[in-house]
Amino acid sequence: MRLLLVEDDAMLGESVRRALRQLGHAVDWAHDGEEADLAVAGEPYDVVLLDLGLPRRSGLEVLRALRRRGLAVPVLILTAQDGVADRVAGLDAGADDYLVKPFDLDELAARIRALQRRGGGRAEPVIRHGRLTLDPAAHQVLLDGEPVELSPREFSLLQRLVEHPGRPVSRARLEEALYGWGEQVESNAVEVHVHALRRKLGPEWIKTLRGVGYVAPRQP
Ligand code: CA
Repeated sequence: MRLLLVEDDAMLGESVRRALRQLGHAVDWAHDGEEADLAVAGEPYDVVLLDLGLPRRSGLEVLRALRRRGLAVPVLILTAQDGVADRVAGLDAGADDYLVKPFDLDELAARIRALQRRGGGRAEPVIRHGRLTLDPAAHQVLLDGEPVELSPREFSLLQRLVEHPGRPVSRARLEEALYGWGEQVESNAVEVHVHALRRKLGPEWIKTLRGVGYVAPRQP
């Protein structure tokens, strides 16, 4: 998933970014409200994590502006312990969920998964795709009931494709989903992950569409 983290607290931001990257997410980190505005205008995010107390532009202003522009991206606000009024204002301004600081990183990751699931119109936490079963919470893939070891990025790439079988995804879009700002990306990074997935799972799960990108063929 590609996530935007908007947080001005350096220590909190760093620990959240590190934890989410370890789960295979691409995380962009905006440190103030203006940077957040620019980021959401320019990149397609799966979920936005939004602190409300921010320099230059408050989180609420960022949120209202984003909804006014018609962006439907799920937004999870991060608020202080005593911020009941903030949470209410945030939800009413178009936030989808909130988390009170200090929060548990496992809970944050679970809420992100839930928001992404709902954003994609999926109710079931586990994704079934023919003989494949993906469990995003456990980061586990089963092929015919047998676990297959995947790296976090391989898992993210596979999930991105099998969530919408038959729908092609461009290489650029896949790259965006796997790598955040400032992360070193080799020009053939996506091909390398696809190659590894085909080697581990078999060639039939990901088809290359020349000049278009990749697609997970629909399964009977
Ligand atoms: Ca803050």
